[in-house]
Amino acid sequence: MKWLIPLADLDFGEKEIKAVTDVLRAKWLTMGQVTQNFERRFADYLGVKHAVAVANCTVALHLANVVLDIGPGAEVILPSLSFVATANAVLHTGATPSFADITSLENLNISPRAIEQRINQHTRAVTVMHYGGYPCAMVEITKIARQHNLAVIEDAAHAPGASINGKMIGTFGDVGCFSFFSNKNLATGEGGMIVTDRDDLAEKLRVMRSHGMTTLTWDRHRGHSHSYDVVDLGYNYRIDEMRSALGLVQLEKLAQNNERRRELAAEYRRLLADVPGLLVPFNKHPGRSACHLFPILLDSEINRRSFIEGMRDQGIQTSIHYPPIHQFSYYQERFGDGTGTLPMTEAVGFREVTLPLYPGMTVQDVKRVVDALRLVIDKDLEVCTKSF
Ligand SMILES: *Cc1c(COP(=O)(O)O)cnc(C)c1O
Repeated sequence: MKWLIPLADLDFGEKEIKAVTDVLRAKWLTMGQVTQNFERRFADYLGVKHAVAVANCTVALHLANVVLDIGPGAEVILPSLSFVATANAVLHTGATPSFADITSLENLNISPRAIEQRINQHTRAVTVMHYGGYPCAMVEITKIARQHNLAVIEDAAHAPGASINGKMIGTFGDVGCFSFFSNKNLATGEGGMIVTDRDDLAEKLRVMRSHGMTTLTWDRHRGHSHSYDVVDLGYNYRIDEMRSALGLVQLEKLAQNNERRRELAAEYRRLLADVPGLLVPFNKHPGRSACHLFPILLDSEINRRSFIEGMRDQGIQTSIHYPPIHQFSYYQERFGDGTGTLPMTEAVGFREVTLPLYPGMTVQDVKRVVDALRLVIDKDLEVCTKSF
């Protein structure tokens, strides 16, 4: 299907093509100078001590749990309104996810109150996810975590470049995880980054990323060492130089592209203010969003499926973020039917639609989306009124 306006679009050009072909010509394909530069620049951009590049954000989240010694018997509090990888990362360590509800229908981020209520003697960590790039209440959450001696992991897949209280998202917790998947604000195809200020964790992350080995091929190549030891049961979670090269170019564009996303999101908010039948979350949300997604909540009398089809028929791609994790078959089979336990998460899972947002959009495109949406909603509300 050729969309008039797709949900997301890459900002790729000649610079990305040159960066990748330069790597191919240099013929050093993995864990070399380009990756080291990418890590250094990403850490500097966030103002954090260490950045460790990995294959994707899913393994970043897994490794974060592993180096924080999350394992069997431990519980990790996290949102159910997230991508399934946030919770799978916990399950892969043998620990148990404990889902907490979101704050409200206006603030789709995990509720600090709900976190507090879920803490018990098994709780070891809290994973937050900055929905759509809008910052979680990190000052409050890190305070709760400190009081109860819990680690904090940030799933910052939506939020590279976002900040709150003057501090970059990803740098509040013990570990922050980023995704460079194709539709994210900084895209390398597959790719991810783990950031931390803790030297002990950075060291563990580097070792565990590469089979638990003490030295890398790169060091041996440069004649710095001749053998290696294996000191832990690690993984191959490495990134390659082509992706790091893409990442370096994309990082240079990130601040400007995020600014563009914020302008477009503001335009959406302006145009949607007087549209009946929907609620726009994160109005006047504190901090600076990376505006990864533009979510809306349809009123419950509007049929979401026919709304999405109505938009599709006008060439506009939309999506849903997210079907709640606790309601997936796999999770229900393992942990029982939790339906009813997270009322706000479930309401959003039922009513949410994500509208197109990407830096290459024009204000005219935003207007087109809103015009199309008005048309579908008018029709839908008319049908509803008639049927009563
Ligand atoms: C995209 C995403 C992930 C997974 O990222 P990958 O790089 O595709 O593994 C994890 N969490 C959230 C919230 C995401 O949006």
